[in-house]
Amino acid sequence: MAGKGEGPAIGIDLGTKYCCVAVWQHDHVEIISNDFGSRTMPSYVAFTDTERLIVDAAMYQVALDPINTVFDAKRLIGRRFSDSSVQEDMKQWPFKVVPGPSDRPMIVANYKGEDKHFAAEEISSMLLIKMKEVAEAFLGSTVKNVVVSVPAYFSDSQRQATKDAGVIAGLNVMRIINEPTAAAIAYGLDKNKTSTGEKNVLVFDLGGGTFDVSLLTIEEGIFEVKATAGDTHLGGVDFDNRMVNHFVQEFNRKNKKDISGNPRALAKLRTACEKAKRALSSAAQTTIAVESLYEGIDFYTAITRADFEEMNMDLFRKCMMAVKNCLIDAKMDKSSVDDVVLVGGSTRIPKVQQLLQEFFNGKKLCKNINPDEAVAYGAAAQAAILSGEMFQDVLLLDVNPMSLGLETGDGVVKEMIKRNTTLPTIKGCAFSTYSDNQSSLLIQVYEGDSNLLGKFELSSISPAPRGVPQITVRFDMDANGILNVSAEDKATGQKNKITITTDKGRLSKEEIEKMVQETEKYKLEDEGHKKKLEAKNALEKYAYNMKNTVRDEKYAQEDKKKINDAIEQTISWLDDKQLAQAEEFDEKMKELESICNPIIAKMYQGVAGGDGGPPMDE
Ligand code: ADP
Ligand code: MG
Repeated sequence: MAGKGEGPAIGIDLGTKYCCVAVWQHDHVEIISNDFGSRTMPSYVAFTDTERLIVDAAMYQVALDPINTVFDAKRLIGRRFSDSSVQEDMKQWPFKVVPGPSDRPMIVANYKGEDKHFAAEEISSMLLIKMKEVAEAFLGSTVKNVVVSVPAYFSDSQRQATKDAGVIAGLNVMRIINEPTAAAIAYGLDKNKTSTGEKNVLVFDLGGGTFDVSLLTIEEGIFEVKATAGDTHLGGVDFDNRMVNHFVQEFNRKNKKDISGNPRALAKLRTACEKAKRALSSAAQTTIAVESLYEGIDFYTAITRADFEEMNMDLFRKCMMAVKNCLIDAKMDKSSVDDVVLVGGSTRIPKVQQLLQEFFNGKKLCKNINPDEAVAYGAAAQAAILSGEMFQDVLLLDVNPMSLGLETGDGVVKEMIKRNTTLPTIKGCAFSTYSDNQSSLLIQVYEGDSNLLGKFELSSISPAPRGVPQITVRFDMDANGILNVSAEDKATGQKNKITITTDKGRLSKEEIEKMVQETEKYKLEDEGHKKKLEAKNALEKYAYNMKNTVRDEKYAQEDKKKINDAIEQTISWLDDKQLAQAEEFDEKMKELESICNPIIAKMYQGVAGGDGGPPMDE
């Protein structure tokens, strides 16, 4: 665990669509902007022939090269390739996803002329590194310790995979924090709040790719989550997809052309739809205009807010169902909720607000906190608490989103940890054998009713009649919501323990180690590329400066010619040296300087000698 003296600990909101990074400093949370001035940064990574682009620059790349621009990695992390949600999403993505080892989805992108396969953890690690760098530039110091947020409804394997992304990024993930809980901290620490005493707060977090609702009671710095519900595959992306599908059909009807298999056209259309969706949050209707969408055909059309709402009504209703279920789980009536807090970009959709307000019998929704920054804010506060930088008394008590149980060979799943149990928690249970002299017991761990997380075998059980051996199984869930299971045979002391994710295609230690090395390599390559660009720019700048300098009449014709010839030669050399190394540009620079500098120096000596130089100002 991180302690004092290790540099500031930061909070990172690793969103499906946007990332945000924050730090606790001078007694408040500071949301950090990047060099573009953005406080939230698009979760995009793009690969080109020459370089790797991350966040803003990568997003601009999507129209140019949609196939090698990766986004929505959060929708893949901790999932299997064969998951229906992955198969569904793949139809919408312009980049390619293929099955990897243990059914793990692998993203394919062409980087420097080579097809590379990336696990979602690797793409996420690139975003985490970027956030770390943004924070480092702001703080002027290195950063190692981080708190990373995940949707409250993320499963064990999705959490574990997010933690692995942190390891690949070379970070120490002090804690995985649930996004709505983090937002509740932002709400609870809000200095402008007047009332005190116990409050029941419902956080409604509808972002780009995921949806969470959490119900908390907040009192004097204690944030206790009572229940959580949600869907890790529901958000703005799905609303966009509905609109994209609608217009693909319209285009087909109008032009008798099916664009559904064309990544470039789909990428263009998706960008336009997302923009239109945002516009519809304030206007009753809007237009879509995509020039040369497909085979040179322009696409002009319109959409009303009512159309958009109809397309997505079932999804909006799904959100309201989750609110209802969350209240049922918390055993709380909706009239007891003091505040309904909106978080996530998609809560700007008027219909979502309207349905939520109606559900709470017309209650005014709380929009005091910034819906785009609240999660990073809370994560930063948590980071400061864990690293001892923040002295305020804050205690977070979170819960697990899904029940966990096991099956030992009788076909019945026994529940070990109920959903919405306060974390961390340890639950133990005694089991026995089913047959005489049974020497091993297979333990299968389930999440919810049917999702097999993993299995392991306890062997070398001492021979005994059935039902006699005492085998204790322990479920140990940490504050990150990550589960460890162990089993012990009382008689032999034989123990077996696993972190449950083996069946979900978790990266092995060796794979993670390899990715850590790759990360180092990418970093060096990025730095090399940056150096090269700098060297190239310096040479270009020098050449054009010289060109301007020798325009001056003072220079003798022969000197002018000498310099101009050298510049012309340099510029044409630059034209066909797009892929040169930094050293080659440096060499060329020296060569050009060796021609220009003596001539310039000669001229300046003339000026310094006082004959014909301009009079000096006093
Ligand atoms: P995440 O945390 O998943 O990255 P955010 O909370 O940042 O997501 O929300 C991003 C989503 O919000 C995107 O799908 C975006 O289209 C949507 N969004 C942003 N502004 C608006 C708006 N004015 N109306 C509707 N949707 C919006
Ligand atoms: Mg979010």
